[in-house]
Amino acid sequence: MTLFYRSTRDKNNQVTASQAILQGLAADGGLYVPSEMPEVVLDFASLAKMTYQEVALLVMKAFLTDFTEQELHSCIAAAYDDKFSDKQIAPLKKVGSDYYLELFHGATIAFKDMALSILPHLMTTAAKKNQVNRDIVILTATSGDTGKAAMAGFADVPGTKIIVFYPKSGVSQIQERQMLTQTGENTYVVGITGNFDDAQTNVKRMFNNIALREKLHANGIQFSSANSINIGRLVPQIVYYVYAYAQLIAKQAVQQGEAINVCVPTGNFGNILAAYYARKIGVPIGKLICASNKNNVLTDFFNRGVYDRRRQFFVTSSPSMDILVSSNLERLLFELSGESDQVTSALMAQLAETGEYQLTDEMKQGLQLFYANYATEEETAAEISRLFEATGYVADPHTAVAAKVLADYRNDTGDKRVSLIAATASPYKFPRAVVEAIQKKTATADDFTLVDTLQDISGVPIPDAVSSLEKAAIRHDTVVAPEEMEQTVATILGVADEV
Ligand SMILES: *Cc1c(COP(=O)(O)O)cnc(C)c1O
Repeated sequence: MTLFYRSTRDKNNQVTASQAILQGLAADGGLYVPSEMPEVVLDFASLAKMTYQEVALLVMKAFLTDFTEQELHSCIAAAYDDKFSDKQIAPLKKVGSDYYLELFHGATIAFKDMALSILPHLMTTAAKKNQVNRDIVILTATSGDTGKAAMAGFADVPGTKIIVFYPKSGVSQIQERQMLTQTGENTYVVGITGNFDDAQTNVKRMFNNIALREKLHANGIQFSSANSINIGRLVPQIVYYVYAYAQLIAKQAVQQGEAINVCVPTGNFGNILAAYYARKIGVPIGKLICASNKNNVLTDFFNRGVYDRRRQFFVTSSPSMDILVSSNLERLLFELSGESDQVTSALMAQLAETGEYQLTDEMKQGLQLFYANYATEEETAAEISRLFEATGYVADPHTAVAAKVLADYRNDTGDKRVSLIAATASPYKFPRAVVEAIQKKTATADDFTLVDTLQDISGVPIPDAVSSLEKAAIRHDTVVAPEEMEQTVATILGVADEV
């Protein structure tokens, strides 16, 4: 049986999984959602004995039905290999009475590796399947993390190239070094003398430039996007919630069927949406707890039923959650509206025009499944230090936001169910914030010195992804003005004379 994907803004726009992966966003501006939830037999007693890769195959074949089992097996084997420093890929750690699902053992020590390590393989397989013979060029603007994770995934994948633009003075020392040392003959990193918005705006402009698109097609090239709305990123994220519940069974932390709560530090709403889908296919999840930082637009949304992005934007110590428009929320709206493409389109149009929309009372009913709250900067730092002092566990700021909000939830409700926290980054990715929180004072040393300090304090070994950085050769040094971005892309792709 083929599972189709349809657009949240036009239900008649229906494609196969491989087509949805190739397109990313639907042409009508909507996001692809499964036309129904696939039936997956989740026998947790046997799942508890399976490897991560085996669980991945079981889940992904149910969602990506036009891929053969052999194709998915190859994609999974190529993605979840020794790029991950932990054999379990997503190990589950007991910290105090909670369970931390560590999603940060991949190439860039943050959770985006979970999906971006497999997306390139899904995409090239999807291209073959659909007789697309063109090379795929991933074009990305990054504020620091996604670009690196995408490059690590696409590096040396045949039939692909990846070009990443980042704000030259807008990323941390470690983030910049991670990008500039990226290996792979098909990777290109370009700093721009503007900010992230400049990078983003010009990338969007290139995607929408029809003349450029035609030139590229004539040269056997097409652009594609690796951003978090692609179902090729969403589906691999469902896997680790199934795996985590199976591991809880293996550890005898829960009885089969016993519901757990899942708390996710949230930005673009991709990770928590994957947990929502995991629940829909039968993972026993009680509450979905949506944790935000000071950019608490989602907290207000879940508590009041109003989405209002007209607010101040804060730069925080958990930068991957510094977001005012959570694009994956559109998929939840589609569900809340009873799968109405008209209602979803209208709400999204309203958001674009006025910066705000409001749910009807009926739609608000569906929000009961969620609990939402947020952590201020002070609360985040206090949680890092509290957790370390109480348990010895060192959490990064994103994970600490979730830990604090889980505590809020317990205080507000008295719910004592077993709880899972999505631990989304290694503390070594944010050594300054973590060291300052634990030492309770401002750190003046550079990031690399603070990495050593963090090891001294915590005893947690420095991941290779960080220790190898200082010695790694710088391979990229291009810096251009924002208005030169298109010319730079044309030069890289060898179509400069024609644009
Ligand atoms: C991207 C990211 C998040 C937010 O995930 P979403 O899927 O965008 O909600 C949280 N923590 C870290 C470390 C991230 O990189």
